[in-house]
Amino acid sequence: MRIVLLGPPGAGKGTQAASIVKKYKIPHISTGDIFRKNIKEKTALGNKAKEYIDKGALVPDDIVVAIVEDRLTKEDCKHGFMLDGFPRTVAQAQALDEKLQNLSINLDKVVNIEVPKEELIERAVGRRICKECGKTYHIKFNPPAKEGVCGKCGEELYQRKDDIKETVSKRIEIYLQETKPLINYYEKQKILIKVNGEQDIDKVFSDIVNALGSKI
Ligand code: ADP
Ligand code: AMP
Repeated sequence: MRIVLLGPPGAGKGTQAASIVKKYKIPHISTGDIFRKNIKEKTALGNKAKEYIDKGALVPDDIVVAIVEDRLTKEDCKHGFMLDGFPRTVAQAQALDEKLQNLSINLDKVVNIEVPKEELIERAVGRRICKECGKTYHIKFNPPAKEGVCGKCGEELYQRKDDIKETVSKRIEIYLQETKPLINYYEKQKILIKVNGEQDIDKVFSDIVNALGSKI
């Protein structure tokens, strides 16, 4: 299964991706996670990406495309993958199509998680992430059993620097301008699935699985 997860910041892509990759046994490729790992390790890529991410801007297409193109050629992507947070611009989607064509493969489905704008800010601002394993929580909608502590690995939770209200609003504006056109792009390719993201996490997941079907 080759899937793209589309949706505005805070829609629940990362949350759903964690369950989807487990079920379909495919690698989870999150460009945001790749950047955050590089920022943590202070690599040259991390230092460059940080300039954009902290402001709520998109990292330039050439940087992101090169990372994904390289990642898709790895052995573990041979039988499928889940792209989360990529593509985010029409130019990225075109570059992805070209790369897949070179590899003689197609995307099976693009899942668009729909959540109204008003809800997105509350979701992103209340998001907390485990420093160690990356598991995502929400202070109100999906809290850990013990405040500030990851229920999976026991490490401390943190708030992303770009999850403050002003930056989230900017990211949503950029989404509307740059990423939303991809809904039409994939609708034309007849591979778009729309899922109501304004439901319980488990219900969103079961809707996604029903829409994806049993093809693995
Ligand atoms: P994205 O990867 O699309 O930016 P996340 O998966 O990180 O979004 O989710 C954003 C925040 O919203 C997180 O704090 C997460 O726990 C919470 N969340 C995810 N799905 C739901 C849902 N269906 N209902 C309520 N909160 C949710
Ligand atoms: P995410 O974890 O998907 O919310 O991404 C966090 C941030 O990383 C975004 O706000 C962007 O600054 C950057 N980023 C992630 N994926 C991309 C992408 N495909 N194109 C450009 N920037 C990206």
